[in-house]
Amino acid sequence: MILFTAPSGAGKTTIVRHLLKKYDELAFSVSATTRTCRPNEIEGKDYYFMSVEEFKSLRRRRKFAEWMEVYEDQYYGTLKSEITRITQAGLIVIFDIDVKGARKLKQLYGDDCFSIFVKPPSFEILVQRLKDRNTENEASLKKRIRRMKREMKYAPYFDYHLLNDKLDQCLQQAESVVESFIKTGSIPADI
Ligand code: ADP
Ligand code: 5GP
Repeated sequence: MILFTAPSGAGKTTIVRHLLKKYDELAFSVSATTRTCRPNEIEGKDYYFMSVEEFKSLRRRRKFAEWMEVYEDQYYGTLKSEITRITQAGLIVIFDIDVKGARKLKQLYGDDCFSIFVKPPSFEILVQRLKDRNTENEASLKKRIRRMKREMKYAPYFDYHLLNDKLDQCLQQAESVVESFIKTGSIPADI
């Protein structure tokens, strides 16, 4: 398993989408969420969109490997069935999840899960990217910015730090890491 985590706006989704296009060995763990679908997103491909009631019912029935209330009243979770679906197909699971959920998965799966923390060049650039993405209203932008500083502090818990400054360089570096993982199941220290 390969896990990407970072504060909102750091570039996880951009990197993960790129890797999924390039490597057939990878399959995306589609999370469940209670947030509303963005215009460029597809149900069942980007997320399983659902109501809070549906989410809580799955949670009661212990269907999640991990879940988080990432923002107030916005729940996100990794379904156990996603991990089974992908591993049974003989593919490598790729996750895009928040820092707390990522720590939980890392504790659960240990060395079977290589964790990558995507680092923005600076806090100011992170805020700017999130604004430029144009997906948040004023209130949700504020929520995300409030959380970013706390999220940055989680970096030491993960196996690898991937700087996302110039996108093409970052994608190249992500490819090296993933190729090594696909070929050998591990990442050499000098990458
Ligand atoms: P996340 O999934 O971590 O929230 P996204 O992948 O959605 O982040 O990226 C946030 C925004 O920043 C998007 O609009 C994306 O196109 C843009 N972006 C990502 N990486 C870079 C980069 N290296 N330079 C400039 N813009 C970037
Ligand atoms: P967004 O709303 O921008 O798609 O995602 C908000 C945050 O929730 C991001 O940090 C994203 O990685 C995280 N996230 C997405 N799916 C999951 C999940 O299944 N579990 C957890 N804990 N976080 C998730």
